[in-house]
Amino acid sequence: MATLFISDLHLCVERPRITELFLEFLANNAAHADALYILGDLFEAWVGDDAIEDPENARIVGAIRRLTTAGVPVYFVHGNRDFLVGEAFAGATGCTLLPEESRIRLYQEDVLIMHGDSLCTRDSTHQAWRAQVLDPAWQQKFLSQNIAARMAIATDLRQQSDRMKRDKSMEIMDVEPATVTHVMQRHQVRTLIHGHTHRPGQHEFDIDGHTARRIVLGDWYEQGSVLTCTADSRRLETLAL
Ligand code: MN
Repeated sequence: MATLFISDLHLCVERPRITELFLEFLANNAAHADALYILGDLFEAWVGDDAIEDPENARIVGAIRRLTTAGVPVYFVHGNRDFLVGEAFAGATGCTLLPEESRIRLYQEDVLIMHGDSLCTRDSTHQAWRAQVLDPAWQQKFLSQNIAARMAIATDLRQQSDRMKRDKSMEIMDVEPATVTHVMQRHQVRTLIHGHTHRPGQHEFDIDGHTARRIVLGDWYEQGSVLTCTADSRRLETLAL
């Protein structure tokens, strides 16, 4: 038995093979898991839960529903692309929405799970954008528009973000070490699992004289990426297309 962590699938019609890989992953790898944690950016864009009615999204929602119906708990932490995933999505899939910083019991250890973009505090333009889109007034105004208008705004925001990223160094877009230490101290954990940066790896460092670990999940652009945890092992693996 294992607990699985994934993030940054960025599912969209432009990458149909990734959607197929995810559906296979749900039907096979995840079918006998203790739990599946999706740590954000499952979707390239999510403009509101009425997007469930889109046929492609309905397939994905249905596949997660089959997994939860079969008894595998699925947990979802919002990413910066799918921050509007809401209770209707949770109801349709049977998944549980978790806060951005969630401390969970992973076999013998309490670990912290996050999407990760809130850790990139050197990236001030991203943090300003994040503050804007997480503002309830902004969300209410956005959601009051029809779905076509929302999709157009989302495309525009993504293009803006891509243009800004071109001028940013990798260092600015990575997590800020002091922010990582601070959040781990606050939650009293020695292991943090997150995604967002698309820089998969396992990092060891020191917090208050103890060895701390940060495990970064990979994106699903060219392959799948999954962290498989058992009571005595943690393996970061890729899934071939
Ligand atoms: Mn992200």
